[in-house]
Amino acid sequence: MKKIIIAGPRGKMGSEAIKLVQSHEDMRLVACIDRKNNGKKLADIAELPNLDVPIYEDALECFSEIDADILIELTIPEQGYKHTKAAMEHGIRPVVGTTGFTEEQIDELSWLASERKIGCIIAPNFAIGAVLMMKFSQMAAQYFPDVDIIEKHHDNKLDAPSGTAVKTAEMIKESREYKKQGHADEKETYPGARGADYDGMRIHSVRLPGLVAHQEVIFGSPGQTLTIKHDSINRASFMEGIKLATDKVMEIQEVIYGLENVL
Ligand code: NAP
Repeated sequence: MKKIIIAGPRGKMGSEAIKLVQSHEDMRLVACIDRKNNGKKLADIAELPNLDVPIYEDALECFSEIDADILIELTIPEQGYKHTKAAMEHGIRPVVGTTGFTEEQIDELSWLASERKIGCIIAPNFAIGAVLMMKFSQMAAQYFPDVDIIEKHHDNKLDAPSGTAVKTAEMIKESREYKKQGHADEKETYPGARGADYDGMRIHSVRLPGLVAHQEVIFGSPGQTLTIKHDSINRASFMEGIKLATDKVMEIQEVIYGLENVL
């Protein structure tokens, strides 16, 4: 039985994660970290399930008082990083869905994990279809060095480009020969029109209400294009990957970054 703390229980991902934990017999929700409702129970909050589970505003107090195995972190980047670090310092293994951690933060967490011999899994996208999209894109980039990534998310998203787009670009870079794309003399009438430049390829971020999480990776070469596309239609798409990560995180003593390294 894995004892779970969820950070961000009122959020779209957090509330889905509560359902995930409730639907598996090998997991039990023991506490939540929220920025409101300190001292209340989940059952006291109208939009949350009727559970006798305590809510803490102070993560350190939560980690000190509650006997837990895993933190599922689903809040915002700045707070999520603090929660993740503090959990590891208290012997609690983080499964992090929160996106927007910097490379330096991930390096610091990796160092902490190896020093404390504790597992942590961070994945910018827990949808298995998205991981396959990244892998297929990495394969295609070997033959198609010209590539644009277009990611589309709801307009409440804080980070741009998305963690998934960054991870896709990093994976493509491993198999793609460097190429500065576009015309050598091209000019942007409006700054940003050509998107962000990552290793010579372009990343475009669309933010609109109504979207969930979508990405297209478009490759072009003379006479043909190849599009690899993934859509998360709702947040249930991320839960199978989170479940896999909660199993795996108990077996490791390091930081694993990316669901593709868990599958
Ligand atoms: P959301 O609906 O806005 O939920 C975020 C939650 O975090 C809210 O309940 C918010 O509370 C809470 N929060 C904000 N500041 C906090 C703080 N200081 N301490 C504790 N809680 C705090 O967002 P979401 O769609 O659930 O996404 C949550 C995170 O998961 C984001 O980083 C998002 O990019 C990421 N995400 C990851 C994946 C993946 O597969 N890895 C997929 C989708 C989303 P308030 O309502 O009071 O602001």
